[in-house]
Amino acid sequence: MISIQGKGVSTGVAIGPLYIYRRAKSTIRRYKVEDKEIEWARFKAAQMKAIEQLGLLAEKARAEAGDDAAFLFETHQMMAEDVDYEEAIQSGIKEDGLNAEAVVTDVGAQFAEMFANMDDAYMSARAADVKDVSGRIINILSGVVQGGIDSDVPVILASDDLAPSETVQLDKSKILGFITAGGSGSSHTAILARTMGIPAIIGVGDQVKEEHEGREVIVDGGTGNIVIDPDPDTREYMIQKRKEQLRKLELLNQLKSLPNITKDGQEIRVYCNIGNPEDVHAVLANDGGGIGLFRSEFLYLNCDDYPTEEYQFEAYKQVLSDMDGKEVVIRTCDIGADKMIDYFELPKEDNPALGNRALRICLNRPEMFKTQLRALYRASAFGKLSIMFPMVTSVWEVKEAKKLCEQVKAELTAEGKPYSDEVDIGIMIETPAAAVISDRLAKVVDFFSIGTNDLTQYTLACDRQNNDLGRFFNAHHPAVLRLIKMVCENAHKEGCWCGICGELGADLELTETFLSIGLDELSVSPRSVLPLRQKVRETTVSEVRDKLLDDLMSDMVTI
Ligand code: PEP
Ligand code: MG
Repeated sequence: MISIQGKGVSTGVAIGPLYIYRRAKSTIRRYKVEDKEIEWARFKAAQMKAIEQLGLLAEKARAEAGDDAAFLFETHQMMAEDVDYEEAIQSGIKEDGLNAEAVVTDVGAQFAEMFANMDDAYMSARAADVKDVSGRIINILSGVVQGGIDSDVPVILASDDLAPSETVQLDKSKILGFITAGGSGSSHTAILARTMGIPAIIGVGDQVKEEHEGREVIVDGGTGNIVIDPDPDTREYMIQKRKEQLRKLELLNQLKSLPNITKDGQEIRVYCNIGNPEDVHAVLANDGGGIGLFRSEFLYLNCDDYPTEEYQFEAYKQVLSDMDGKEVVIRTCDIGADKMIDYFELPKEDNPALGNRALRICLNRPEMFKTQLRALYRASAFGKLSIMFPMVTSVWEVKEAKKLCEQVKAELTAEGKPYSDEVDIGIMIETPAAAVISDRLAKVVDFFSIGTNDLTQYTLACDRQNNDLGRFFNAHHPAVLRLIKMVCENAHKEGCWCGICGELGADLELTETFLSIGLDELSVSPRSVLPLRQKVRETTVSEVRDKLLDDLMSDMVTI
């Protein structure tokens, strides 16, 4: 039995075989083949497999997001069997005698360049598609599995680290738990694991090795403990622990449909954070009162090219319809920093967290931004939508974004397309600048949602991705809590509501403080709704308010 200690970032116990995640090889081997016919047959088999995979993806996209979304994969299918493309590959293999991976790489690059140089904007945009199709065929040839998991049974997935774009593309039905060598608790991968309710442990370094693959492993996302080849006693103990957790969950289920109200009658809304339309099931199953943060950029991360208005419209409409009139706050695209996407072609930056990200990109690319706003407003006809802008630092940014909203509404009116006139506009408070000028910002919006993950990172000058910062990254720091209090007071003075959608919102050690401050809403991962409701219902806020607010301002607190 091997015991490994990491940092638990998503609770729960899971047992299953260990699977090492392998990403596509970045270097393609290049060599002369002995038998050109066999190599050609190898290419043809990979091409067929790619076409088959793309057909399945098209079906899935059609069911989830309509014909437009399916069309992208159908175009890829056509490219994979394009006659010119195939002939060029045939000549590379049969005439030059090169291995299929190398030939597909070369031909893919040539065709992509040819498309990129075309004057027609539609055709030049096809360069990314050719690269994508070629990448798929190369992955099949080199045995890399799309979606990352080549296993018939669900597994505990171990990896050096996972980018958000990789996490969203994994087949979740095959994942019982996550283990990563690096990472941090407020990284987006940890956040996604919590949203999906999958136990996760980070920061294990090189302790999980290739040779452990296939062996039975237990992860305890609460304690951060990992056991490989558990002995019978440990195995039994962990199974009992899992049963106990399920029993507690049963008890929590009894709180469903009850209000989030303190013993002395103070109510707070408990909403959920989601990353894609399918997460709504978990919101409803956990009795979330609404959606306080839909991270719309995960739609972008799931696509190989800018998602079309239609694709986004279908996704937002689905969430709003499924939520059946409950409030849904959709955050506009928050790409950049750790959430990078190739097709955005963002210049490399030394400090991406301080660079071109989120609303900054959207304001610099108004056409892209308007595509999203059009999809959002069109979807607003199907439920109670609120729109939220991320990474604000100045009032002018909000005014400029709101002007684009007005333009979009005018366009939709002219086109006779319906939208709701009651869409609230809010912003995330994620920067110290936004917190400090929240008195001014409150005059131009309807609500604030405090993004404590970024607000902590920027206030304490601590990279949220860096697990080594340990005790320096302290989200309970009075600097952060005082900013939250100030932001909430400024919101209320202007009649705005104020909530928290960062991970701190689910921290039960702070629930009494948040109630004392008077926050109106906490938006948390679906699994955290009922524990939070339980905590709220146990609290008598009038008994603790004065002391907790004094503590916030006191010079007795160790900083
Ligand atoms: C935050 O910064 O707290 C937040 C909710 O946004 P994200 O974690 O997606 O950056
Ligand atoms: Mg943020």
